[in-house]
Amino acid sequence: MRDDFFEKLYDPKDFTTRANALVGLLETHLSEALSGQKAQVIHYRDPDTVLGFWRDYLHQGKNSDLFEHVLEQSVHTHNPRYMGHQVGATAPITALTGLLGAFLNNGMAVYEMGMASTAMERVAMEVICQHLGWNDQAGGLLTSGGTLANLTALLAARKAKVSRDVWNEGMRGPLSIMVCEEAHYSVDRAARVMGLGREGIIGIPARTDFSMDVSLLEHEYAKALEKGIEVFAIVGSAPSTATGAYDDLEAIARFAQKRNLWFHVDGAHGGAAIFSKKNRYLVSGIEWADSVILDGHKMLMMPVITTAVLFKDIRHSHATFSQTADYLLTDEADWYNGGKRTFECTKTMMSLHWIALLKGYGTQLFERFLDRQYNLAKTFAKLITNHADFELAVPPKSNIVCFRYVSKNLGLEELNQLNLRIREAVLIDGEYYIVQTRLRGIWYLRTTLMNPFTIQTDLEGLLQKLTSFVGTTP
Ligand SMILES: *Cc1c(COP(=O)(O)O)cnc(C)c1O
Repeated sequence: MRDDFFEKLYDPKDFTTRANALVGLLETHLSEALSGQKAQVIHYRDPDTVLGFWRDYLHQGKNSDLFEHVLEQSVHTHNPRYMGHQVGATAPITALTGLLGAFLNNGMAVYEMGMASTAMERVAMEVICQHLGWNDQAGGLLTSGGTLANLTALLAARKAKVSRDVWNEGMRGPLSIMVCEEAHYSVDRAARVMGLGREGIIGIPARTDFSMDVSLLEHEYAKALEKGIEVFAIVGSAPSTATGAYDDLEAIARFAQKRNLWFHVDGAHGGAAIFSKKNRYLVSGIEWADSVILDGHKMLMMPVITTAVLFKDIRHSHATFSQTADYLLTDEADWYNGGKRTFECTKTMMSLHWIALLKGYGTQLFERFLDRQYNLAKTFAKLITNHADFELAVPPKSNIVCFRYVSKNLGLEELNQLNLRIREAVLIDGEYYIVQTRLRGIWYLRTTLMNPFTIQTDLEGLLQKLTSFVGTTP
C-alpha cells in the first residue's frame, strides 16, 4: 500500500515548485552579488546568537524561509569584495551538477553504482595527467578534499618506498616524510594518522620568501639517517597555504631522485598552474612527481568538496589500500571499481563538476581564471607597496596576498594588536571579507583573490576601509 506521508515527500510537482523558488532566489542573489549591489559579503553574528536562532527556527520558523535564512547567514563568495579563504565563487553550472549528483545518489563504491560518474572521473583525470606531462601509465581518482588526498598519496608512497610492508605488518622502526615547515597542516596530520608520530615529519625550514630552503635537504636527510629514521617521501607545496609561496619543485625532484624518495606535490591550491601557459613556470618540475593533488573547489571554480589525486604510475593507486601484492596484475582490468582505490567507500558524484566544466568551457577556463587572479594579486601588491601605511609580507607568487598596516610610531606588539583589531572590524562591518594569518610572529591581514569579478577599484576600496578603521578601533 502506498503511504500518503511518503507520497508528499516525493511529490514531483512539489519538488519542481520548490526547486524553481530556490533557483529564483539564487538568480537574484547572484546578480546582486556580482554587481556589488549587495552591500555586505557577510552579516557577522556571534556563534551563540546563530545557535539560538536555529534552535528557535526548528520549533517556530517557517519551512519556506529556510533557504533565505541560510543565504543571510552565509559568506557570499560571489560578491567581488569576498577576498577571504581559498574556496571561491562556484561556477553556477557546478551547483546544478551538485544537485544532479545529490538527487541520483549513486555512491560509486562499485562500478554499477555510478557507471557514468566512474567513467567521467577517468576521463577528467586523463585530461589532468596530460597537462602534467605524463604518459598513459598515469591516472588518478577523485576524493573528498585535499586533506584526504594528501593522506591517500602518502599511503601510496609508503607502500611503494618503505622496505617493510607496513600496511600488513604495522609500524616497526621510525619512518619519515620531508616537507617545508610552511606546508599545509594536512601533511603533518597524514603522517600522524599513518602512525609515524611526531618524528614522522622532517620540517625543512623556509627561505625568507617562505618557500622550502632546498639547500638544507641533504643535511636534514643525513641527520635523519643518523637517527636511524627511514625517509620515504618528500612533499613540495604548490603553493603553501598561508603565503602562497611555491617550492622549487625541480630541486626537490632532483633530490628525490637521488635519494630514491617518493616525490609528492601538494598542488591543492595552485597546482592549477599546469593549465596556464603564462604561469606554468611556477610548477616547473611537477612532471617529475610521483603523485600530485589538485583541489577542484579552490582554483577550479567547483563546489566543495572535490580533489583529484594523480599518480604518474596508476598501479600505485591500486596498491595503496590493497592487502596483497597482486595488484600489479589487476590494474587495468579493475579501473572501474573506484572504491578499492579511495579512502571513502561511498563518495559523491564529484566528476560531474569536472566534466561539465571541461566540456562546457575547456581547460582554458582554468587557465584564464588562474592568470586573471594571479595578475590581480600583482596589481594589489603594487597598491600595497605604493601605500605609505601598508606593507607586504612577501611579493605574491599566486593570488594569496598577505600584508599589514604599519606605522613608524608603533612597536611590533602594538602593530600585531592593531592589525588583529582591524581584521575584527572588517568582519563585523561586512562590506569586505578577508582573513588573518601569523607569519614568524607577525600578524598579517590575508586575502585570497578568488572572485573573477574583483577589480582594482575593489582593492583600493579595501585599503581605504582598512585605513578608516585604524583610528576607530578601541
Ligand atoms: C587547502 C589546502 C589543503 C587542504 O585541502 P582541503 O580540500 O581543504 O582538505 C592542503 N594543502 C594545501 C596546500 C591547501 O591549500
